[in-house]
Amino acid sequence: MGLKIYINGQILPQEEARISVFDHGLLYGDGVFEGIRAYNGKIFALDQHMDRLYDSAAAISLKIPITKEEMANDIKKTMEANKLTDSYIRLVVTRGVGKLGLDPNKCSTPQIIIITDTIELYSKALYEKGLDIVSVTTIRNHFSALDPKIKSLNYLNNILAKLESIQAGAGEALMLNKDGYVAECAGDNLFILKNNVLLTPPASVGILIGITRNIIMKLAAEMGIPVKEELMTRYDLYIADECFLTGTAAEIIPVVKIDGRTIGNGRPGKITLDLLKRYRDLTKSGF
Ligand code: PMP
Repeated sequence: MGLKIYINGQILPQEEARISVFDHGLLYGDGVFEGIRAYNGKIFALDQHMDRLYDSAAAISLKIPITKEEMANDIKKTMEANKLTDSYIRLVVTRGVGKLGLDPNKCSTPQIIIITDTIELYSKALYEKGLDIVSVTTIRNHFSALDPKIKSLNYLNNILAKLESIQAGAGEALMLNKDGYVAECAGDNLFILKNNVLLTPPASVGILIGITRNIIMKLAAEMGIPVKEELMTRYDLYIADECFLTGTAAEIIPVVKIDGRTIGNGRPGKITLDLLKRYRDLTKSGF
């Protein structure tokens, strides 16, 4: 049986959930989205995701026609319609139906789409073995062009990077910014552990401010691990003791190889696994 999809207040069978070919979300990638997860029937980090969605929309001058509370209720209704308690939720807000031509002011009301499904980004075996990642030539968007803080429907920057990593037979693409500083991966934020200090690139290099990233920084601080946002080059990664990626879908995935260099002892790090366990405990208890 197919999924039930929410479009603009209606919950429809997957086959009937359609949007116009004139929607600027399709024509120009003009819109914003969120990837959220629900564990045991509870939406995880809901407020943070709502804030980021509405901030992304504000940054592109898109007024979402319903409140955050209404949006949260609509997500819950869609999950219920699909009888899901554990779910990956894709929330999409497009600019709406318009004319050919860029002008967003010629578009009708924004279209809201909620897909509640399941996702397995990486296999269980990879969490035990660790991921092999490569740095790619596609640089992360410069924030003066399209700020990576905006979770927009325009993901070609990330897709081009992802294509390079697939071509190289690696699990993820490490993106640098225009100055050569480590930014983030195509769909995840990056952390390293060096001399018992947890390091992650600062927001100023041009990254999506990951919600999992923020939670991990808090969890590490609670564990007494110093956390620093620091500029890093690939060299810093190559000499790291541990490395891992964070994201809503991935949670925390260990990295054991970067550009062919073995990280630590080539197995998922101790602190990495500890953080993964604590994060999963948090998803069970709610946040
Ligand atoms: N960076 C990028 C480019 C992403 O698309 C994502 C989300 N998949 C992340 C980082 C991680 O963000 P979050 O922890 O909020 O899912």
